[in-house]
Amino acid sequence: MTTPLPDPATRKYDQGFARWVRDNVNGGDKLSMCMQCGVCSGSCPIGAQMDYGPRKLFMMIRAGMKEEVLSSNTIWNCTSCYRCVVRCPREVPVTYILQDLAAKAADMGYADKTENNKFAKSFWWSAAAFGRTDERLVTALYYFSFGFAEGIKRGLANLKIAFGLIKAGRMHLTAPHAIKDKKGLKAILDKAAEIDKRDGAGQ
Ligand code: SF4
Ligand code: SF4
Repeated sequence: MTTPLPDPATRKYDQGFARWVRDNVNGGDKLSMCMQCGVCSGSCPIGAQMDYGPRKLFMMIRAGMKEEVLSSNTIWNCTSCYRCVVRCPREVPVTYILQDLAAKAADMGYADKTENNKFAKSFWWSAAAFGRTDERLVTALYYFSFGFAEGIKRGLANLKIAFGLIKAGRMHLTAPHAIKDKKGLKAILDKAAEIDKRDGAGQ
């Protein structure tokens, strides 16, 4: 007797996911070159902080594990050090693929609840508002993005570290430093957003 095919709406593996990555993700068209040697994962300095190394993530893309790939912390924890790219024997642009998967995951709402995305949003807010990141504001915004009570809890838990940083001169207590030409920065960011929107609409 033939086993019925799983309902496409509920099945775990999305068979079109690899094709989607190939056609929509920066560098995704080179993914078919991956021979699963594992050099990228073995070279990654923060592989231990990732749910899956790049090699495994690429196999999961081929297997159609869309949910797991787009909600993994691998795509957010990549620091863009390019060690994997330099060492990959098949010239797979690993970093570009991970970076663009993160951007696509954010656009598609996968990242909204992750700690990495909350931190990225706080970091970006400070960079866009002042032209540089202020560790106190970024940290406070990040902590309180989990709610008021959780913000206080996280703040108190890390108070000792904050005092240590102040004592060592690594964290200041004065007003946030800002670049001189904030208007110029805003014009650049507005233009980048416009290009991003246009390119996104064209895809
Ligand atoms: S190093 Fe390149 S070929 Fe090897 S697993 Fe990583 S991406 Fe694939
Ligand atoms: S670019 Fe990202 S995935 Fe590649 S070695 Fe560096 S941190 Fe790891």
